[in-house]
Amino acid sequence: MIYLKQQLDLYDNDIRVMLQAFFDNEKVVRTKAGSRLSLVVDYACKEDEETGAKSEGVVTFSLTDDKGYESVEKEAADYWDKKASKNRIKAALYRQLSAYTGKTLPWGTLTGVRPTKIATELLENGVAEEAIHREYTDTYLTIPQKADICIEVAKREQQLFKDFQYEEEYCVYIGIPFCPSRCLYCSFTSYPIADYEDKAGDYLKALYREMDFVAEAYRNKRLVSIYVGGGTPSVLSAAQLEELIGHIRQAFSLQYLREFCVECGRPDSLTEEKLQALKKSGVQRISINPQTMSDDTLKLIGRAHTARQTKDAFAMARQAGFDNINMDIIAGLPGEGMEELLHTLSEIRELKPDSLTVHSLAIKRAANLNREWEQYRKLVFGSTNEMLTAVDRCARESGLFPYYLYRQKNIPGKLENIGYAAEGKECVYNILIMEEKLDILAMGAGAASKFIFRDENRIERAENVKNVDEYIARVDEMMERKQKLFSRKGGVV
Ligand code: SF4
Repeated sequence: MIYLKQQLDLYDNDIRVMLQAFFDNEKVVRTKAGSRLSLVVDYACKEDEETGAKSEGVVTFSLTDDKGYESVEKEAADYWDKKASKNRIKAALYRQLSAYTGKTLPWGTLTGVRPTKIATELLENGVAEEAIHREYTDTYLTIPQKADICIEVAKREQQLFKDFQYEEEYCVYIGIPFCPSRCLYCSFTSYPIADYEDKAGDYLKALYREMDFVAEAYRNKRLVSIYVGGGTPSVLSAAQLEELIGHIRQAFSLQYLREFCVECGRPDSLTEEKLQALKKSGVQRISINPQTMSDDTLKLIGRAHTARQTKDAFAMARQAGFDNINMDIIAGLPGEGMEELLHTLSEIRELKPDSLTVHSLAIKRAANLNREWEQYRKLVFGSTNEMLTAVDRCARESGLFPYYLYRQKNIPGKLENIGYAAEGKECVYNILIMEEKLDILAMGAGAASKFIFRDENRIERAENVKNVDEYIARVDEMMERKQKLFSRKGGVV
């Protein structure tokens, strides 16, 4: 436990996040008893006796531990001007914690979900790449590799979105919340298909109603991306898949569509018939996700397929004519280190997917991995920057380049997730959910829609219930939730 005492708490969140980044999410508490480390933050400034105006002062960090360690770090900063002082204050604390732990953090003081945003904004303002690089390494103390990748991703995004007209466009997400089994690390809405097979028909019927409603409400806008995810949509039968895609095509105008993606995440859910049904229905991009090519790990994480099945499913998909196949892998899975990751990468290199997404293992609250943490903690080493560097090398050697990047707070080591793709095979939906540039209309159990209020510079969300039975029973209410936001957006209906 880490004891944190602050004279004022304007920077409370920044200081806590920095502590958790250095000490792997160790609990930060306000009582000293039982804590092994203590950080006291004081602030002193001069005050004009007549006007009461405060001038620039000094922030002091006093760090002590239960072994007698003591250090003091001071930073001159106008405490009240958060915009001007935040980075300096965080950098001062970073230097102190780095000296204490002997650690450097690849992302330095950057703790947000979208570290590429800085590069995007600076590029938009015409700032030179060299200066952007310095901003990352000098202001935020990132390692040069992270500055490079952020600039590269931001430039690719700019290129990808250059002819988008956000005001006129929207994306659709359709959730199929069924899977063959539940992965150990899963925090999504997902139910075992074996227990829900007889409800799939009713679920689809409810989904069609929601789709028809959204399609009608957005009839004057241009649908640019459809993403059918989950869950594992490919656990549906070939006939159900055909019907589902058929309904999407019938409900929405696809005149402006740039991509049609379906998640076929679990190789064991695929058959030749299903792949042909998807291809025939006009699906352009699919994902077949190995996560790892080690059968022992697959068993451990609750995925009921083998590496062989991944290879067979991939070959079947190519055979069916898919020329845009993504593969997802996870770095830092339980029981896995660098050796296992290199094995996975060498197998993937053989398959030559059109895009590769690497996630750093995140330990999310709702996941069984978290609930059964005591059982797995000795097996989880997490991802490392060396692992992500190995993925980066493998991707580039395979002709794939980074095009989106984001971080999650539950990743040990505070690393990132990165999507690599061959030129022209990028999935814009992946970027759009992070960038929040246009409305995402999400349908199905657990689906969360995002409505962008551009003029007011804000976003509103409408969330659907997660439970499948509830969704079927309350789909009208889900539509009403959306209707309220449609109306607030100035009556697109
Ligand atoms: S395949 Fe995806 S949605 Fe399904 S259980 Fe695994 S992580 Fe969850």
